[in-house]
Amino acid sequence: MPELPEVETFKRYLDSTSLHQRITNVEVHDAYVLKRVSPRELARRLKSHRFENSHRHGKHLFVHIGDALWLRVHFGMTGGLQYVKRDEEPPKNTRVIFRFATNRRLAFHDQRKFGEIELIKDVDDFLQTRGIGPDALEIGLSQFKTIVGNRRGAVKAILLNQQVIAGIGNLYADEILFRARVHPATQAATLSNMDLRRLFCATRCVLGKAIALKTDFNRLPKSWLMTRRGKRGRCPRCCRALKSQMIGSRTSWFCAYCQKRAA
Ligand SMILES: [Zn+2]
Repeated sequence: MPELPEVETFKRYLDSTSLHQRITNVEVHDAYVLKRVSPRELARRLKSHRFENSHRHGKHLFVHIGDALWLRVHFGMTGGLQYVKRDEEPPKNTRVIFRFATNRRLAFHDQRKFGEIELIKDVDDFLQTRGIGPDALEIGLSQFKTIVGNRRGAVKAILLNQQVIAGIGNLYADEILFRARVHPATQAATLSNMDLRRLFCATRCVLGKAIALKTDFNRLPKSWLMTRRGKRGRCPRCCRALKSQMIGSRTSWFCAYCQKRAA
C-alpha cells in the first residue's frame, strides 16, 4: 500500500514527466476511482489546462491545475502512475489516462480500485475538512513529542492515525518502531522523552531513506525489518524469530527481544 515514501516518489515522477504540457483529454476507463466528479466533468475541467506543480501531504498527492483547481490523487492499496510514450501501451488496470498535446499520456493504474481521484478547490481546506494531521516529514521534534506523547493508546495505532500524523502506514510504522526499539503495543503516554526522540529520529530516517531509494524494495538496507517481516522471518539485529500481533486492527511485526515492552 503506497505510504508517504511511495507517494513522494510518485510526486517526483509526475514532476519530472508530466508538468507544463497542455492536457487534450482525460479518458476514464473506470469511474469507480472518481470521487464527486463525473468522467465528463473531469475532462471538461482539465482540458486545455496543464499540471503546473504538485504538493504531497501524507498519502495524498495534489496536482495544481490553475486558479482554485487541484487534482487530488490518493493511491489506495495498489495505485500508481505511469508516463506512457507515444507507441507504448498503458499498464494493465489503468483507470484514468491524462492525454497531453505532446501525445504522451499519464496513466493512473490501480488494480484493487481503492484509489481516489477528485477535483478540489483548496488543499488546506481539504486537509482541514478531513481532519488530516501534519505531514510526518514536516513535523518538528517538539510537535511530535506533544502529539504522540500525549495520546492514549498503543504507539503503533497512533503512528497509523492519519489525523494525528499523516503519511505513515503499516509497513513503515513497524520499521520506525523497530529502529527506535519501541514495542508496537507500548502505551504512548508511557514513552520517555528519550523514547519519543528516538521515535522522531527513526521516523525521519526511515521515511527519508525510503524516498532516497525510490522505495525500491530490492535496494532497502538488509538491516531493515521490512526485508524480513513475515513467518519464519528473523530479526536483522539479533537473529531471533520475529513475532506478530494485531494492533489497531493491523498485523504488526517486531522483535520481542530488541523491542521490549515496558513493564
Ligand atoms: Zn532482535
